[in-house]
Amino acid sequence: MRVQNPKIDEPILHLVGEEADRLGLECYVIGGWVRDLFLHRPCTDIDVVCVRPTPVEQTDGKQPTIGIQLAEAVTARLGRGAHLAVFRNYGTAQVKRKDLELEFVGARRESYQRDSRNPIVEDGTLEEDQNRRDFTINAMAICLNKDRYGELLDPFDGLYDLEDLTIRTPLDPDITFSDDPLRMMRAVRFATQLGFYLDDETFDAIERNKNRIEIISKERIVDELNKIMRSRRPSVGWILLDKTGLLPLVFPEIAALKGIETKEGKGHKDVFLHTLQVVDNLSMKSDNLWLRWAALLHDIGKPRSKAWDDAAGWTFRNHNYIGAKMIPKIFHRMKMPENEKMAYVVKMVDLHMRPINLIEDTVTDSAVRRLLFEAGDDIDDLMLLCDADITSRNAEKVERFHRNYQLVRQKMVELEERDRIRNFQPPVRGDEIMQTLNLEPCSAVGELKTAIKDAILDGIIPNEYEAARAYMFQKAREMGLISDKA
Ligand code: ATP
Ligand code: MG
Repeated sequence: MRVQNPKIDEPILHLVGEEADRLGLECYVIGGWVRDLFLHRPCTDIDVVCVRPTPVEQTDGKQPTIGIQLAEAVTARLGRGAHLAVFRNYGTAQVKRKDLELEFVGARRESYQRDSRNPIVEDGTLEEDQNRRDFTINAMAICLNKDRYGELLDPFDGLYDLEDLTIRTPLDPDITFSDDPLRMMRAVRFATQLGFYLDDETFDAIERNKNRIEIISKERIVDELNKIMRSRRPSVGWILLDKTGLLPLVFPEIAALKGIETKEGKGHKDVFLHTLQVVDNLSMKSDNLWLRWAALLHDIGKPRSKAWDDAAGWTFRNHNYIGAKMIPKIFHRMKMPENEKMAYVVKMVDLHMRPINLIEDTVTDSAVRRLLFEAGDDIDDLMLLCDADITSRNAEKVERFHRNYQLVRQKMVELEERDRIRNFQPPVRGDEIMQTLNLEPCSAVGELKTAIKDAILDGIIPNEYEAARAYMFQKAREMGLISDKA
């Protein structure tokens, strides 16, 4: 079949085909780009595989180099503006031009050993190269040589699976997943990203091979989790991870959110399902990956804080605080970034109950100011998270919440305009307190600083220098630090 799609006629692809013709190689665009062509998804990285007309026995253990040769020829043709990077150990080369990225490789046959996902690689045919691909929809190739330009090679009916929204391995799924267990994560990720379903046999094989995931590095797993988290509905991925049995292996703390315990006829809500709804709610409003992670982790402390109280029923006291404390350990183990991104997630989890408590309580200026002070510039994100966290089925409760939510938002704007509380620094600093009152560094200095900050947040004095200085004297007098006459 010849592909009828204007994208296949991009000049760069013709150019690659011409260079392959000159070198006497067969050449195909393959994998993600072909899949996305049929799905009408944008795709800027193009994988090109090339094949010798007659395969050569590779006896020296070295990687085939024809991919590199083709990449060099293409780079020379493109001239200025094209950059070549060669990875001899892998037998691959990458050509970059503006926002385009071409990856060249010689067709290969792979064989795997049990303890590694790094295969032994040999020169191979196109069919052998397609056999080693992870899913039928990722194994389609389109010929770029002039006399067969646009011809689709789809030995596993990937096109049919695309229409059927199915993720299926080309060969025996038990072998595919056992060879390279990362493919199990990729299966779940593609299902989430593309809105596809796992074929039954593929699904069952993941269940059977799930324990093999332990040979995969945390970085690779997190790459896939991030792609799941960036999808339109991340819950799809987390539910699949749960159903296939991968969840406790890749993220035990999330697995621990599952289930409902009942006592004296009272159950609590399933925190796993609630969490997923919060993540989906938030994802409709925000593309911020780290806010999405904060949504996923916002109740992570609940299993550890769960207790039964005869009067109150199930309680989760301090779960925000316990959860915030768990996050650095999780980020460390998962090899997630232990930097300001993590600090942001910790802060969001720690503060996630604050707007709700505010909203359910009477909304005082002082409470709003304190929240503005603690959240700083992240206040809008925190409010989004808080809004997403309302998953009650009780319509009246939700309605009341949204009314109060608007009230709090409005008050925040008013107070912020008036008092500039976000990112505020107390107008009188510690060194000024020490100098003016002739004090050595001591706990009294800290007490005075806190007193001034509290007075501003509680609206006792305005957020201004003169007022703060007068208040400092007044407090110092009360504390007996200076005489009444001073
Ligand atoms: P995306 O770029 O969105 O991650 P993709 O399908 O292009 O999706 P890549 O990781 O760029 O994924 O890989 C390109 C192609 O290489 C895939 O389409 C697939 O054919 C093949 N491939 C990648 N990783 C694997 C793997 N672990 N096992 C088998 N084939 C793979
Ligand atoms: Mg790709």
